[in-house]
Amino acid sequence: MGILVHMNDVHPEVVAGEPIPEIEPRVDRELLELMSIANRRGRWFWVGTVGMALFFVYFHFRMWIAFTSGIILLTLWGYSMRRLRSCWRGKRMAGEIGNWLSWSVPIRINIEYMFYTVSVLMIFFVLTSAQEGASGLFRNLGLILLFGGGASVYLGRVARQPGQICCRWCEYPLVGLGLPNPCPECGKELLDGYSTTDRPRVRSRWFLWGGLVSAIFGLMVMYASIYRPGFMYGPVPRGVLLRMASTDRSAFDRLMLTPMTVDEEQRLIDAMVANHTTDSYKSSFAQGQWISQQILGGRLSEAQLESVFHKTTEIVIDAPSSAKVGAPIELRLKADYVRLPSFGVTPGYYFRGFVVDDESAAQGGDSQPHFRLYLTQSEYRAKSDVPKHTWTPLTAGTHTIHARVVLALFPGGGKATNVPIDWSKPADSMFGMTPIWSHVVDLEKTIEVEP
Ligand SMILES: [Zn+2]
Repeated sequence: MGILVHMNDVHPEVVAGEPIPEIEPRVDRELLELMSIANRRGRWFWVGTVGMALFFVYFHFRMWIAFTSGIILLTLWGYSMRRLRSCWRGKRMAGEIGNWLSWSVPIRINIEYMFYTVSVLMIFFVLTSAQEGASGLFRNLGLILLFGGGASVYLGRVARQPGQICCRWCEYPLVGLGLPNPCPECGKELLDGYSTTDRPRVRSRWFLWGGLVSAIFGLMVMYASIYRPGFMYGPVPRGVLLRMASTDRSAFDRLMLTPMTVDEEQRLIDAMVANHTTDSYKSSFAQGQWISQQILGGRLSEAQLESVFHKTTEIVIDAPSSAKVGAPIELRLKADYVRLPSFGVTPGYYFRGFVVDDESAAQGGDSQPHFRLYLTQSEYRAKSDVPKHTWTPLTAGTHTIHARVVLALFPGGGKATNVPIDWSKPADSMFGMTPIWSHVVDLEKTIEVEP
């Protein structure tokens, strides 16, 4: 404990041989004023951060918005604390106070200041976890309560604040006693001022009990937010739950516990398409299954289907941009991986074949559906799982390759339904049955052939 008592904790009015006077508690006025200002601002930062996080949970903002808001808040905080920081630095250099805490202000000020400082440093965790929905937010608030509780228990052992001159070891007040003398309470020999302090420990059970309650409550909130998320949503009104369910998997799970009206289902479909639940890695298996059922059940509008599936149409001809006369080159298709709500709603693709310079017949195509996934991986593209055509340029100059691809999803799925395509028919009657969604893509690639 001794190291926590600073040289500065010895009151200047302690003079050997003279009775110890009653004193006005020695508070560092400058520090007190600056810390009080910091605490007033801290309240606003705290309320602002949590309010903003709730706002993000409800309206589902993108990660970069949360991140930028965090940077702005932290910058504002750092800027508004600059006077306190420079004051603190000066006093620390002069050896008057420690790095983190000063016992020269009332303990209440210290606790509040610690709470806001730690909270503000957690701005990023709180704001970015709001992306995961309310359970992510509560998990981090639980974490703050847990650490705050631990800090409180620790403070209960070390916290001090300005008070009467007392025994350095047991904090027994020494007013009226002359030094040297043994301490009337603990019997230790008090030789001079260095055996005394006017910053006695704050002996309060509140640190321990408040800290334990806070830590236990924090653990419960964390547990509930991870393992019993439905519990957190119990009091949330159904309209709010419905608004959250597209982006918040726990709110979704809670919503599914009770049957929805047709109108509610439609609102959830609209929100899921608008909020990209259908292609987000953050959405859960259950959310993906639900929206997949709605897609296969024909509940989405044409515009919504297009919004969900348009990325699957991004397919290109995979061939070198230059070639030599007489040297054969390989023409293939390739595409990037597209995340869809579930495997069951992955459209199959049909390939008509490569057409070189609008002259030859289509090469390498067929009338059967294929897995689009195979176009995304080079190990498949190298094999026979994807269309391939070897073409040997016979003349120099610019040659153009055309290719037609059709993507289609049927009530029974994509490739799985094995519905063949009739390339001779117009676009709206190429299949023997009506697809839920289909899209015709015409591809083109130019190849410079050198002599
Ligand atoms: Zn004592």
